[in-house]
Amino acid sequence: MNYNKEASLLYEKGLTKFQITNLYQEILEEFYKACGHVETDVFIQKVKDVKRYERSYLHQIIDESCKRYLYSTDLTWREVKFEPKRIKRCKNCNAYFYDVSRNGRSLTCNIGGDYFVYDSTNRKFRNFYKNGEKLSVCGAELEIHKRTPIYKRKVNMILTDFFPAEGDIKGQAWLDEINIFHQNHG
Ligand SMILES: [Zn+2]
Repeated sequence: MNYNKEASLLYEKGLTKFQITNLYQEILEEFYKACGHVETDVFIQKVKDVKRYERSYLHQIIDESCKRYLYSTDLTWREVKFEPKRIKRCKNCNAYFYDVSRNGRSLTCNIGGDYFVYDSTNRKFRNFYKNGEKLSVCGAELEIHKRTPIYKRKVNMILTDFFPAEGDIKGQAWLDEINIFHQNHG
């Protein structure tokens, strides 16, 4: 994963992707509790105002979130930077999330962790990837939606593995089918 500046810093401090995204989620939820139910742009503006005019309150929220989520940690607001402009709404579940990606183009949250399914052909769990990145639960659900024509949508739809393992005939066949579909309907 290519992280933005503040997430890279935490990664260098030894935090995993899961910990980084969840720590930001924790901070975000504290702001949400304080701001109440408002429109997205109003919410972002309120967080910007806190950052600008109530620094000590911002620091308090970050420090408490670090302690609550990471238990024994010496991380504080000095290491955990928060940029209100990274706040977004997940295109799948509509929750607020903090975009930790370098290009700032994440569409979905990471609240549910990585998406994986049980593959009964080799009895292994496997993840799904897009552009070489593991998809989160919301990322995968959004892909399923985008790639499934409305009249064909079903619950428990098989998700395309865009990097089928070598010898994965079923996976490769499914991928070919998807590609042909997109060529014809592109
Ligand atoms: Zn989501």
